[in-house]
Amino acid sequence: MTDPIVAYLEQHLDDYLADLRTLVAIDSGSNDKGGVDAVTGWLAERLEALGFTVEWRRQERFGDDLVARRSGAGRSRVMLLGHADTVYPGGTAAARPMTAAGDKILGPGTCDMKAGLVTGLYALRALHHVGWAGNDATTFLVVSDEEIGERHSVPLLKAEGPAHDAILTLEAARDSGDIVTARKAVRWYTVEARGRAAHAGVEPDKGRSATLAIARFVDAAYALNGMREGMTVNPGRVSGGGSPSIVADRATARFDLRARTDAQLDELEAAFNDLASRPLVPGVAFSATLEKGSGCPAMERTEGVARLEALAIGVARDLGYDLDGAATGGGSDISFAAHAGTPGLDGLGPIGGLDHGPDEYILRGSIVPRTALLAKLLVTIEAERQRGAGNG
Ligand SMILES: [Zn+2]
Repeated sequence: MTDPIVAYLEQHLDDYLADLRTLVAIDSGSNDKGGVDAVTGWLAERLEALGFTVEWRRQERFGDDLVARRSGAGRSRVMLLGHADTVYPGGTAAARPMTAAGDKILGPGTCDMKAGLVTGLYALRALHHVGWAGNDATTFLVVSDEEIGERHSVPLLKAEGPAHDAILTLEAARDSGDIVTARKAVRWYTVEARGRAAHAGVEPDKGRSATLAIARFVDAAYALNGMREGMTVNPGRVSGGGSPSIVADRATARFDLRARTDAQLDELEAAFNDLASRPLVPGVAFSATLEKGSGCPAMERTEGVARLEALAIGVARDLGYDLDGAATGGGSDISFAAHAGTPGLDGLGPIGGLDHGPDEYILRGSIVPRTALLAKLLVTIEAERQRGAGNG
C-alpha cells in the first residue's frame, strides 16, 4: 500500500506544478514590493485555509514579511522558513515563463525559492489530508529581502528562530540532492589606505603611495586563506589613485571573510585587523571597517543539527532514497534564525540548481520525494519530542 502522504502528493502533483507556475509568473525582485506582496499574499491565503493565523510585518519600501502561525496538539515547535523575493528584474517572468525540458522545470525563481514555498504548503496540505494533529506550534515565516545586502528582516529572523525547537528551511536541495547542515559565517570589510600625494616626476620621494600599500595589503590578506580549515579571504573591488603622474594618496579594497564558526571568524578578523595595523609601506596608514549590514553568523553543525540530519536521513530511507547533509560557504535566512543555537536544516525544497541565472531549474521527479520528506520530518520531530518528554 502506498504511503498516504506520498499518495496525496502524487495525486496533487499537477496542482503543485500549476501553483508553481502561478508564482513563477509573478515578478518578485527584492525591490518589487507589489510582486513580493503578491507572492506572500497568495501563500498567506492558502495557509489561512489550513488554519494558520497570519501576521504581517509591514514594510514601506520592501515586501511585507509573513509570519503565519498555527498551534496543534503536539509538543514540538517547528518553523518553516523561506523568502519570497528573487534576484530578477521586472519583466523576467513574462520573458521566461515556466517551462519543462525533460525532468527539468525551468523559470525565474523556481529553485530560489518558489518551489520551496510550494513544497512547504503541500507538505502541510498532505498532513492536513491525513488528519495529523500537528506540532505544538507550526510557524511559516517568509521574508522579503533574502537577496539583498542590508536586510530589515534580520531582527525578525533572530527573534523567531529561538522560539522554536527546529528550523526547517525550504531553499532547494543542492543539485547533488544534498540538504544543507552547515553554513559559514561571513563578514565584509573595507580597507582604506591613506598616504601622501606628490608629483611622480618632480618629487616622487615626497609621496607615500596608497596604491602600493593596498596592493601589498591585498597580497598579505590573501595569505590568510586556509589559516584554519575553511577560512577564506577574498578581495573584491580594489580602487584608488588617479593620474599615473601622481603618487596616490588614497586607495581602498573590499574583502569577504568567511569561517566555519563565529569564533573562528573572530580569530580570522583579528589576524586581518592585525595586518591593517602594520606599516606595509612607510608613511601609509590603513583603516579597516566592517561594512554595515554585511555578512551573517555561522549556521554551525551542532549536535542538535546532527540529530535532525539523522532524522531526515531516516525519513528519506523509509521513502526509498539516500540523503546526505553537506556544508556550504554561503549564508542564508537560517544563518540568522539559528544564531542562538536552535538546530535547523536547510535545502528541504525540491532538488535544483543554477540559481540566479537563465537556466535555473528544479527537478520534477524530486517534488514528491522531497515534499514527503518535509511532511514526515514534521511528524518525526514531533514523535522524537514526545519520546524525549516521556523519558524525562
Ligand atoms: Zn534563496
